[in-house]
Amino acid sequence: MEIIDLHCDVLLKLQYGKGNIRFSNDARLDANKDRLKEGKVKIQAFAIFIDPKVKQEKKWDAALQQIELFHKEVLGKNSEMKLLKSWKDFSSLKEHDIGAFLTLEGVDPIGNDLAKLEQLHKNGVLSVGLTWNHANLAADGAGEPRGAGLTMFGKEIVNYNNRNRIFTDVSHLSDKAFWDVFETADYLIASHSNSRQLCNHQRNLTDSQASALFRKDGMLHIVFHPPFLCYSEKADIQDIIRHIDYFCSLGGVKNLGFGSDFDGISTHVAELENASKYQNLINELLKYFSEEEVRGFASRNFFEHLPR
Ligand SMILES: [Zn+2]
Repeated sequence: MEIIDLHCDVLLKLQYGKGNIRFSNDARLDANKDRLKEGKVKIQAFAIFIDPKVKQEKKWDAALQQIELFHKEVLGKNSEMKLLKSWKDFSSLKEHDIGAFLTLEGVDPIGNDLAKLEQLHKNGVLSVGLTWNHANLAADGAGEPRGAGLTMFGKEIVNYNNRNRIFTDVSHLSDKAFWDVFETADYLIASHSNSRQLCNHQRNLTDSQASALFRKDGMLHIVFHPPFLCYSEKADIQDIIRHIDYFCSLGGVKNLGFGSDFDGISTHVAELENASKYQNLINELLKYFSEEEVRGFASRNFFEHLPR
């Protein structure tokens, strides 16, 4: 069954690798091309994420470098990998193609300059998360003790996203910022988050957040990071199924998807250690859900929620 995965950190690893990591088959990449192919991943989102330790004045260049790596290493050296630059491209893929698109995890690289966001959008960024776990000029993140919401600049970004049919990603936001974005954004997604009721971590969504997201027909993509599944370094596929089942009980059956966070996580779910193992999850899900429901989680729900 074909998969759409909404979050990986391959670009960050390629950047750290300084030219020594090959996207096609390097075993250091959870989501290298061969593994995506083996796991039947049809579309993979590639996050632009800049380490918060990078100096502010270097962040824009670091983001541009990740885009360059995306073009040279991911797309340029692998003929199966096809660039998806707009939502209409999502229906253009042929049988053996693997679609690839850019997302932004944290707007720090643009500083206070919306023109830079426009430049990123022109480069094909289709989903924007305002911040990672810290506070920035747009919003407070889940790890920021202050817990403030959206700034005026953050609101301008969400309005820009609305005008340009870009998803606004609520994964990583503080609770206050979640609700501010929820009020403002037309195209809502949590690209990699789980249930806080089942695993009490600030990166996960509360019942009221998840229910509200489903009522507004936003998407929620399950993340495969063990500490966000069961508060431990060890997790198995049953833990993922618990979160999916729970979100279904809140009305999310048509709004769930996957956002593995491969290459951004250091521990892995047993039998789902990298993208090549994706069908293990599908086979297990088919024991509990109908084929149509599983196809929804795997790719169709996302397809039905493209901001067109
Ligand atoms: Zn993340």
